Amino acid sequence: MEIGFIGIGQMGKHMSNRILEAGYSLTVHDLHKEAATHLLEKGAKWGNTPEDVARSCRVVISSLPAPQDVEQVVYGTNGLRSGWKDGDIYIDMSTNSPSTIRRIAEDAKTMGVAVLDAPVSGGTGGAEMGTLAIMVGGDSAALERVKKVLETMGRKIFPVGDVGCGNIAKLVNNMIALACNSICAEGFVLGAKAGINPVVLREIIKVSTGNNWSLQQYANTVFKDNFEPGFKVSLAYKDIGLALALGREYGVPLPVATVVQQDLHDTMAAGFADKGVDAVILPLENTAGVKVRSPE
Ligand code: NAD
Repeated sequence: MEIGFIGIGQMGKHMSNRILEAGYSLTVHDLHKEAATHLLEKGAKWGNTPEDVARSCRVVISSLPAPQDVEQVVYGTNGLRSGWKDGDIYIDMSTNSPSTIRRIAEDAKTMGVAVLDAPVSGGTGGAEMGTLAIMVGGDSAALERVKKVLETMGRKIFPVGDVGCGNIAKLVNNMIALACNSICAEGFVLGAKAGINPVVLREIIKVSTGNNWSLQQYANTVFKDNFEPGFKVSLAYKDIGLALALGREYGVPLPVATVVQQDLHDTMAAGFADKGVDAVILPLENTAGVKVRSPE
């Protein structure tokens, strides 16, 4: 089966590589061709536009930053829509707005194209290892047709409901994870300022009730002054904005998420938009006049 993959970024470079390594024939596209060098060297083909990719592949996957990028890839000049054929499947694995992907799915249906939203969790490490959690919304028959392809990228595939539901699950996850990320930064800055060794603090919390994903990353990120992405602050800000929009749509107040949004906004304003999301600690450290580091 010829698979198309659009968006060869921090996640897409690994996810597309997993598909290629599993033996599928792959056609790739990104705004920057050099992002795909590692794939082209291994035999992947280059598609000049999303339309070209859609014309040559029955299944096209995208992993793009934000809803407007997905709309651009589908509806822009030489977009996917111009190349779709009856019976094709489009899987958007970006963290996207549920309403955006639902609109695209309704439109695609009129052309006989099935759309699945299949956002992922597990970070770039999970993408590289093929251990992502994949939350899928959309038609179960379409999912059945592409399940083996998804299994090259993730061991845990969760059908969640209609198209859009994958992103609802993903946004709830990220809202919780990003709240942990912010409070974890505050806790470690407070602990360091008050004289506790951060390595000891992490060992304690790892086996205590405050354990969370961010804390687990700290040994390789904050402690080592390593804020390379990974998951960029700007994308986290996009996700919390999408979660808040969902809250407004369903009339659910999300006061903690509002504070997290402000925290991410402040981190971007301090110049760290393209750093990994652990960088929310940097403005706090500056204000408190303390660093949470342990290079060994
Ligand atoms: P990224 O910014 O590293 O990569 C996005 C890629 O899309 C880039 O290579 C960019 O050039 C390409 N792109 C953007 N617009 C395009 C267009 N119009 N046409 C073709 N290519 C285009 O982002 P990422 O970290 O790989 O994240 C991708 C998606 O996965 C996002 O929705 C993100 O929220 C989600 N996600 C990221 C992580 C993570 O740890 N990085 C984890 C889970 C989910």
